[in-house]
Amino acid sequence: MKIGSHVSMSAPKYVLGAVEEALSYNANALMLYTGAPQNTKRKPMNQLKIKEALELMEENGIEKSSIIVHAPYIINLANCFKTETFELGVDFLKQEIERVKELEATILVLHPGSHVKAGEEKGLEKIVEGLNLAMENIGDVQIAIETMAGKGSEIGYDFHHIRYLIDHVKYSDHIKVCMDTCHLHDAGFDLTDFDAILDSFDEIVGLDRLVCMHINDSKNVRGARKDRHANIGFGEIGFDVLNQIVHNNRVKDVVKILETPFVNGHAPYKYEIEMFRKSTFDPTLVEKLENL
Ligand code: FE
Ligand code: FE
Ligand code: ZN
Repeated sequence: MKIGSHVSMSAPKYVLGAVEEALSYNANALMLYTGAPQNTKRKPMNQLKIKEALELMEENGIEKSSIIVHAPYIINLANCFKTETFELGVDFLKQEIERVKELEATILVLHPGSHVKAGEEKGLEKIVEGLNLAMENIGDVQIAIETMAGKGSEIGYDFHHIRYLIDHVKYSDHIKVCMDTCHLHDAGFDLTDFDAILDSFDEIVGLDRLVCMHINDSKNVRGARKDRHANIGFGEIGFDVLNQIVHNNRVKDVVKILETPFVNGHAPYKYEIEMFRKSTFDPTLVEKLENL
C-alpha cells in the first residue's frame, strides 16, 4: 500500500523537510503544496533542497511517483466573470506545472473550480479553456482533477463533469483523477459500496485514470455538500468503510493521502497510517493526541 499524508514544506528545509516529515509518519507517499495553499507567493525552486529530498526518498524506498503536488485553492479556472481570476489561475497553473517537473514528480492535483453563478455548463467550458492554455508545456505531468463535495457552486461532484473535461481538453491523455472520500460522501455517494462507485467511475471516466485518493473521514452526513474532514474513524464514514476502501484490490496501486485535521496541534498521520496497515481501529486516537 502506498500511503502518506499531506506534509508541510517550509523554511529552512523545504522539500527535504517534507520528506523527513513523511518518514516520521512511516509513510511511503506524500503530498505537498509548493507554498501556502491560499496564496501565490512561491520561493525559487533552486532554494528548496530538492536534490537532498530526492536522495532521502531513494534511500528510504519512496518512489518519485508517490510524491503528489496539490495546486493552491485560489486557482479557479471556472470563473466566468472575473477575467483577472481566470488569468491568474491559468498563469499560476502553468508555473505550477513547471515546479512539478523540477520536483521530478508527475501528479498535480487540481480542484476543478466553482462556476460562481454562471452555471455548470459555462463553468466546464471555462475550465476547458483554462486547461488548454495552462497545459501547453505539460511534458510528463498529469493533472489529477479532484472529485469535489459540491459545496456552493463547486464543479466536480459528478463523474460526468470529469468526463466532459476529458472529452474537450486538448491534452486529454494528461487528465487524471484524484478521488477524495470525504468529498464523495458529502456529494452523496454511498461509500459502504465502494465497488459500485468504482464500477460507475470505470464506466463514465475509466479506472485507469484514477491515480490518487484522498482518504478522509467526514464531519457531515452523506450528501451534506459541506466538505469538512474528520479524523479516520471519528466521522460519519467510519473506520471499517475507509479501511475497506484503502485495502480494495482494484485501487491497490493508487497513491493514498490523508488530509485529516490536526488534534491539539498534533499531526494524526503516523497513527492513522498504522491503523490502516494493521486494519485495526484505535478508539483512543484523539484522546492520545490531545494528551501529547
Ligand atoms: Fe484538494
Ligand atoms: Fe482532498
Ligand atoms: Zn476537502
